[in-house]
Amino acid sequence: MFFVPLYSGSSGNCSLVCSDSGTRILVDAGLSATTIKNALLKCRISPESISAIVITHEHSDHIKGAGILSKQLDIPIYANAAAWEKMQGVRDRIRDKNIRVFETNKDFFISDIGVFPFPIPHDTADPVGFSFFADGRKLSVATDIGHTTQEIEDILAGSDMLLIESNHDEHMVQTGRYPVYLQKRILGNNGHLSNTACGRLLVKLHEAGVNRAILGHLSQENNTEELALQTVASILRSADITETNMQLRIAHRDRICGMFEV
Ligand SMILES: [Zn+2]
Ligand SMILES: [Zn+2]
Repeated sequence: MFFVPLYSGSSGNCSLVCSDSGTRILVDAGLSATTIKNALLKCRISPESISAIVITHEHSDHIKGAGILSKQLDIPIYANAAAWEKMQGVRDRIRDKNIRVFETNKDFFISDIGVFPFPIPHDTADPVGFSFFADGRKLSVATDIGHTTQEIEDILAGSDMLLIESNHDEHMVQTGRYPVYLQKRILGNNGHLSNTACGRLLVKLHEAGVNRAILGHLSQENNTEELALQTVASILRSADITETNMQLRIAHRDRICGMFEV
């Protein structure tokens, strides 16, 4: 299996999961269809070879280009019923046969890739993260998480690779220029995961067999790539976890950060 974070952040999210036999799934499509197609071409992946799109939740930074991509490429979009309720604009645009409904907490297959959607705390109807299983490997994608739970830790355990949210520095949010209601939303239980919370989660996940993580969904306003890396790495170091024991990378907001063999 391999994994390509194409874009990650509040300006748009889209990543690519591929099995060795050629099944290609986009996780979210939160940028314009043209932008996503160009990013795929940069990775030498033909947009026509994409098998499906799976949707985590209905915020526009996750669904913006989904409808047009589905229409242009004639590919299915998988989302849960609550998300479909809120995605009327996408629904109206695409063929009925491409509207696929999954149930949260119930796994399904897209060709040879097993997909497990699990609930995450975030301020939409029924938001999910995903674990993907193919070629004997496990890859998990978990962003837009207000806080972590034992359930999430259990699901992410044993992932061979993880895209995990490291959204903000709490101090930057509190002293930044965002209005109070927005600060409360970001820092709240159903908002986004801070660098510190991400670091603490990775300490626990390291014990559960995870040793490669890509930090994603970084806030442009309340974080920097250096700060996210430094904060997470220092929390890991204080738990005696070195860089060789937990490989960290950053998923950029505006460009491809690499192709990772899982
Ligand atoms: Zn988001
Ligand atoms: Zn969101």
